[in-house]
Amino acid sequence: MKKLIFLSLLFLISCAVVPMTGRKQFVAIPSSQMITLSAESYSKVLAEGKLSSNNYYVNTVRKVGERLTVAVESYLKQNNLASATEGYEWQYNVLVSEQLNAWCMPGGQIAFYEGILPLCEDENGIAVVMGHEIAHAVAQHGNERMSQQMAIQMGGIALSEALKTQKQETIDLAMLAFGVGAKVGVELPYSRTHETEADELGLYFMAMAGYDPQTAPAFWERMEAKSTSRPPEFLSTHPDPSNRIANLKRIMPKAMEYYKAK
Ligand SMILES: [Zn+2]
Repeated sequence: MKKLIFLSLLFLISCAVVPMTGRKQFVAIPSSQMITLSAESYSKVLAEGKLSSNNYYVNTVRKVGERLTVAVESYLKQNNLASATEGYEWQYNVLVSEQLNAWCMPGGQIAFYEGILPLCEDENGIAVVMGHEIAHAVAQHGNERMSQQMAIQMGGIALSEALKTQKQETIDLAMLAFGVGAKVGVELPYSRTHETEADELGLYFMAMAGYDPQTAPAFWERMEAKSTSRPPEFLSTHPDPSNRIANLKRIMPKAMEYYKAK
């Protein structure tokens, strides 16, 4: 009984609500720790990887990224939700890799792989991917995944304790939870709930930044056509592509309101 009360209490204090979608979520790690861990993991990825020397890619990704994060933060601020991205340090880099992938760490550090950029075609396509990745960060999906993984793999040990005693394992786990899995060799797919939520928020975010959300379905269709036996992160949970498009069409009217208000 005592344990039950304790667990309910823990759930209550660790329960957050995703901005805009209103979904209740369990996040057990203080966001200040997520931010520190993100910065550390990002440095590690940049040090191990190779930055793109394609100036067009680098400048366009940065430009679209800045436009989106400025629009998102201004929306959050106007709606008393500014705490959702408090302490985030937005960064935008392009890495040399043929992978069709991009990600955003919980602290706002973003990376695009060169391989996905031809598929984006233009700023609209980059905005679709950027919106989706920023959404994972705003909605704290990394914290949710990390909380879950720590409970499974480390028996619920507190993050601060884990960092003291098992630093390398904890950082590997964080990279996995943040969707940067390539380096550790294991993929941890985002759940369908997270993917659908990132699609929804991402569509609103690109619209708020003045990018036409109606260009998003065509991007996802190009992505689907291009993915072979090993699907990229976006498709790794195998959401039926027609469901994905149907979902985008369902929320399109709301996205268009943000686009027109721009
Ligand atoms: Zn995703």
